[in-house]
Amino acid sequence: MEKVLLITGASRGIGAACARLAARQGWTVAVNYASRADAAQAVVDDIRAAGGRAEAFQADMRDETQIVSMFEAIDTHLGRLRGLVNNAGVVDVPARVDQMSRERLLRMFDINVLGAFSCTREAVRRMSTKHGGTGGAIVNVSSAAARLGAAGQYVDYAAAKGAMDVLTVGLAREVAAEGIRVNAVRPGLIETDIHASGGLPDRVRDLAPGVPMLRGGTAEEVAEAIVWLLSDASPYTTMSLLEISGGR
Ligand code: NAP
Repeated sequence: MEKVLLITGASRGIGAACARLAARQGWTVAVNYASRADAAQAVVDDIRAAGGRAEAFQADMRDETQIVSMFEAIDTHLGRLRGLVNNAGVVDVPARVDQMSRERLLRMFDINVLGAFSCTREAVRRMSTKHGGTGGAIVNVSSAAARLGAAGQYVDYAAAKGAMDVLTVGLAREVAAEGIRVNAVRPGLIETDIHASGGLPDRVRDLAPGVPMLRGGTAEEVAEAIVWLLSDASPYTTMSLLEISGGR
C-alpha cells in the first residue's frame, strides 16, 4: 500500500532533507511550502529524479482554509495519509520578553503552534482507526530551545516549542490505541536558513564552541531521526522527545 507523508515546511532546511530521505525509504511525499514554490519544486524534482514520488502543496500555516484545502488535495492526488511531520517553523529577531509586541507573539504562535494543531487534527481524522483509518505516525519538530528557554533571544519561540512538546505527550496518549504514534525531535543548532531569517546568519558558527560535540548539526542528521520515528522500525516508540543537539 502507498505510504503517503506530509511534511510541512519541506521546501528548505530540515523539512527538505526529511522529504528527500523519506522518499528514498519509500514514502510518497507531500512537500508543503508557504511562499518558496521554486524551492519546493526543486525538492520534488530531486525526489522524482531519484525515482521517488512527490508533489508540492502550498499552504500557509497561518491560514486554516489553506491547510484544510491542502489535506483535501493530498487525499485526491496522493491517497490516504500515513505520516505527518509538523516541521514548518519560524524564529524572530532577538529580543527580550519585555520588548515583545503582541503582533510578534501572534505570528510566532500562529505559525509554530496553531498551524501544527490544525494539521494534526486533519491527520488524525485520516489516520485514526476510530475514524476508519489504518493508523500512522506523527513527528513534531520541537527544539532544544524548549528546554533551554532561549533567554535574551527568543523566549517566545522556546515557549511555542514547549507547546509542541506538550502536544506530543498529550496526543500520543490520546491516540495510542487508535494506531497512531506521536513523537517529537528536539534539534539543537542546525545549519539552515532559519538563523539568517532571524538576523543571525553566523549563529551556529558562533555558538558551536559551546556544544559538547563542538559543532552544529546538519539537516540530514535531524532527518535520519525523523524518518526513523515515522518508520515501522520504531513500532513501540511513542511520546518520545528525542534530543538531536550534540549534547547541548
Ligand atoms: P528554514 O530553513 O528556515 O525552513 C523553514 C521552512 O518552513 C521552509 O520550508 C518554509 O517555507 C516553511 N515555512 C515558514 N513559514 C511557514 C508558514 N507560515 N507556513 C508554511 N510553511 C512555512 O527552517 P529549519 O531550520 O529547517 O527549521 C525547520 C524546523 O526545525 C522549524 O520548526 C524550526 O523551529 C525547527 N528547528 C530548527 C533548528 C535549527 O537550528 N535550524 C533548531 C531547532 C528546531 P518557504 O520556503 O515557502 O518559506
